[in-house]
Amino acid sequence: MSAAIAFERVSKRFGDTLAIEDASLAVEPGEFVSLLGPSGSGKSTLLNLAVGALQPDSGRLTIQGRDASRLATHQRDIGMVFQRYALFPHKTLRENIAYPLAIRRQPAAEVRRRVDALLQMTGLQAQAERYPAEISGGQAQRVALARALAFEPALLLMDEPLGALDKNLRLELQAEIHHLQRRTGVPTLYVTHDQEEALYLSHRIALCNLGRIVALGTPEALYREPPNRWAAQFLGDANVLPVSAWRDLGDGTVAADSSGGAVLRARNPHGLRNGSRAVLILRPEDCRLYEQPQAAGASLPVRLEHRHFLGARQRLELRLADGQALQASLSGSLPAPAADSPLHLGWSELAPLLVEDL
Ligand code: ADP
Repeated sequence: MSAAIAFERVSKRFGDTLAIEDASLAVEPGEFVSLLGPSGSGKSTLLNLAVGALQPDSGRLTIQGRDASRLATHQRDIGMVFQRYALFPHKTLRENIAYPLAIRRQPAAEVRRRVDALLQMTGLQAQAERYPAEISGGQAQRVALARALAFEPALLLMDEPLGALDKNLRLELQAEIHHLQRRTGVPTLYVTHDQEEALYLSHRIALCNLGRIVALGTPEALYREPPNRWAAQFLGDANVLPVSAWRDLGDGTVAADSSGGAVLRARNPHGLRNGSRAVLILRPEDCRLYEQPQAAGASLPVRLEHRHFLGARQRLELRLADGQALQASLSGSLPAPAADSPLHLGWSELAPLLVEDL
């Protein structure tokens, strides 16, 4: 089966700004893919190219295997959900959801059946005859979602759909979007700048920065083996340790010369070769604190500067002898480490990763 949508080496320029540079990405049947990146990284431009509001300067876009340059927006069979709900104020929720079916001239009985099913799936049966002004933001976004799914689109595009909601509602709707997408299997391209949202929802995440897709993979692969420093720091917290040189140990690991002359053992998942600029990444939750030094290459002496108790976790702010700040995140149920005694930062075996310094 063809990809629901495929960008093949697509670029798009606005005057001097290269908004999208050589982007390649396919959303496969049934797949949920997030575009995750900071503001200005090109996410909305990719969505606008997908719907046909913009045309690429170079490269190719296909929708279900068909060249999109010949397809007008209404021929692309795309459902859309925006941050602002864009509901029709003078139509009831039922009429809003039915609208895309009505304009496609579906038989009335079929429209009723589909709309009832969607009202039920989104838990809106009791509000079906209300108007948009009479419901909450979360309910409005459910209606927008049901409306986008009503005509069983070949592709669903969502542009920060939870951005206008408060945190609890966001989490609730996030769960519903996940459930609905997995149940209907509609291929989805989802724009967000929220890391946890992307991790929670996606089969795969495309990390965007400065108009480029800098990493693409499953949430676990991107988090555990980020390809570079930027990706590691954008997707979660990361301690970054300098590396001046390293020696390949031949089993996918290296001995790296790092802070204060320490030689640390690290994994090299992307097979970096000597000569590249590299750093070590160490996730705060892989760190432990000890009163004694650990095995050679697996700990660093540190001083505890601050402890923040956060409930489930505690965050420790630490400093190396050379002045560099580091963080450790430990379970909140562990006792607080003694602030005035010397400590050693250790980690689960081979937690440090050698990655490109990009
Ligand atoms: P994001 O959705 O990740 O915030 P955008 O795709 O909106 O990023 O923007 C990517 C880059 O392209 C930004 O530098 C932005 O200023 C620029 N840009 C987007 N749309 C236009 C436009 N219509 N005219 C000029 N520049 C634009």
